[in-house]
Amino acid sequence: MSVEPDPQVLAGLDAWRGLPAGQQPQWPDRDALERVSSRLAALPPLVFAGESDALRGHLAAAGRGEAFLLQGGDCAETFAEATADNIRNKIKTILQMAVVLTYGASLPVVKMGRMAGQYAKPRSSDAETRDGVTLPAFRGDIINGFEFTSEARTPDPQRLLEAYHTSASTLNLIRAFTTGGFASLLRVHEWNRGFTANPAYSRYEEIASEIDRAIRFMAACGADFDALRTVDFYSSHEGLLLDYERPLTRIDSRTGLPYDCSAHFLWIGERTRQLDGAHVDYFSRVQNPLGIKLGPTSTGDDALALIDRLNPSGEPGRITFITRMGAGKVRDLLPALVEKVTADGRPVTWVCDPMHGNGITSATGYKTRRFSDVMDEVAGFFEVHRALGTVPGGLHIELTGDDVTEVLGGSEEIDDEGLARRYETLVDPRLNHQQSLELAFQVVELLRK
Ligand code: PEP
Ligand code: MN
Repeated sequence: MSVEPDPQVLAGLDAWRGLPAGQQPQWPDRDALERVSSRLAALPPLVFAGESDALRGHLAAAGRGEAFLLQGGDCAETFAEATADNIRNKIKTILQMAVVLTYGASLPVVKMGRMAGQYAKPRSSDAETRDGVTLPAFRGDIINGFEFTSEARTPDPQRLLEAYHTSASTLNLIRAFTTGGFASLLRVHEWNRGFTANPAYSRYEEIASEIDRAIRFMAACGADFDALRTVDFYSSHEGLLLDYERPLTRIDSRTGLPYDCSAHFLWIGERTRQLDGAHVDYFSRVQNPLGIKLGPTSTGDDALALIDRLNPSGEPGRITFITRMGAGKVRDLLPALVEKVTADGRPVTWVCDPMHGNGITSATGYKTRRFSDVMDEVAGFFEVHRALGTVPGGLHIELTGDDVTEVLGGSEEIDDEGLARRYETLVDPRLNHQQSLELAFQVVELLRK
């Protein structure tokens, strides 16, 4: 028996069209957009409602301190980089971090990629000028091309279809990698042994050998390693481009309720979380678990008003607040926010994004971050929650599985000059494979303090 949707619920899914929507492109051809929308609406969902429900349960557990979320991936995925190697390396990095964190926190780690749909970017300016030529800013592969030509920068609705198909093939590979034995605990553990065998990372040897002993103990006890051959891996992206999210929203036949089936988890960005704006309205009407970025200007009242709009009944796991204050501010600003929300009583899951509050420009002109600032914000996040007796529920990281040089520092000491070697991101700088693993090991050190 399938449950029919309430006509008012259906109509509500288009209410955002009458509201101010930040960060949307100016499509040059509305008819072409309409045609693409109809096509997207007819294509199969990328994820299933039941999977999003399961994730909501895991996020609720993270909010209670019974699990820990690790969400990671590119700032902006690109179509060109959706290759088997790139996807495999990113999954591998996240799984390796997850094993370390599972051990360090003694908790199940919920694994989520900023993957299979992270194609739309908010920008601080609508236009970009180079050598006297002004063109629309790059808004992500789902909207326009990075190349600085009028043709590439003109928003093209066909890109929505390419985003859908690239997400589908990415998800297909994610599902294959995470259920086909590639993700087995023993294998991931072997990769981590390879990492810590490098003398540059000798600092982490002790934790690595503890993990090794724990795994040998499990084996000796007859642990069912077959059961550890598959992992759940969830997809997520910023729910920014409403012309993409709307046609991928489907009615769940079990309940008659709408789910945004472009990803398991969508987050509302720091620039589009206005209470009376289109994004908050839209996501209030779908059932997925939601993230909301909270930057340094967020007040406790803002957070409560967002809960009123997006989770009035206080359903556990529905809202994850992803705080991104900056290393210098997190200890000052986070406590008031957490206290106010905690006093309200409706549960939320607190996650730290130590990336977006820590941007700097290097002396050599690159948009970068310091690894030490990233770690300092993570440390501040744990300190604040420890002091308040609240739960640090997870981490949200921009990373890649490759050896890029975009973030300063780490044991390999990438410096100003070193950034030029392999600076490949089109938007924000990402931790490379080694820096990502270092972060995981350093989080274990923090948890022990
Ligand atoms: C991002 O996550 O890439 C991003 C733009 O974040 P924020 O909304 O926190 O600035
Ligand atoms: Mn980013």
